[in-house]
Amino acid sequence: MDILDKIEFSQARKKLLRTQQQLADLLGVSLKAIHSYEQGWRPVPAHIERQLFFFLSKIRHEQPGDKPCWEIKKCGMKDDCPAYEFSCGHLCWFICGTRCDCTDKLNAKEKIAICRSCDILKSLLE
Ligand code: SF4
Ligand code: SF4
Repeated sequence: MDILDKIEFSQARKKLLRTQQQLADLLGVSLKAIHSYEQGWRPVPAHIERQLFFFLSKIRHEQPGDKPCWEIKKCGMKDDCPAYEFSCGHLCWFICGTRCDCTDKLNAKEKIAICRSCDILKSLLE
């Protein structure tokens, strides 16, 4: 899956109940940048996409069946993974250097593209 397109970006803003100016403030960018992302004049940078996913994941209430990634994936790499080291079982997509499909050889943009297809992140954005 590719980076967020302009429609997905706009949908994410509305889901967060933010005006364009409010989202600009939340993400620490200019109003002009938000216009550019929503008009498709500029691609949405990976760090902005990750922040959006972070906020979207936080407006979803925690579910009783929620488990950390290493349990869901029956992971054999967790002892060598920063997601486990820093207790980021639901935020593994947010950090780089994880040891599953997203290796430390991928940059942040490549990694978030993989994570968007992973059930861990998808379940947080439902
Ligand atoms: S991010 Fe991947 S490698 Fe790391 S603990 Fe979770 S499932 Fe395992
Ligand atoms: S692919 Fe991404 S979201 Fe899925 S377990 Fe690995 S780091 Fe987490």
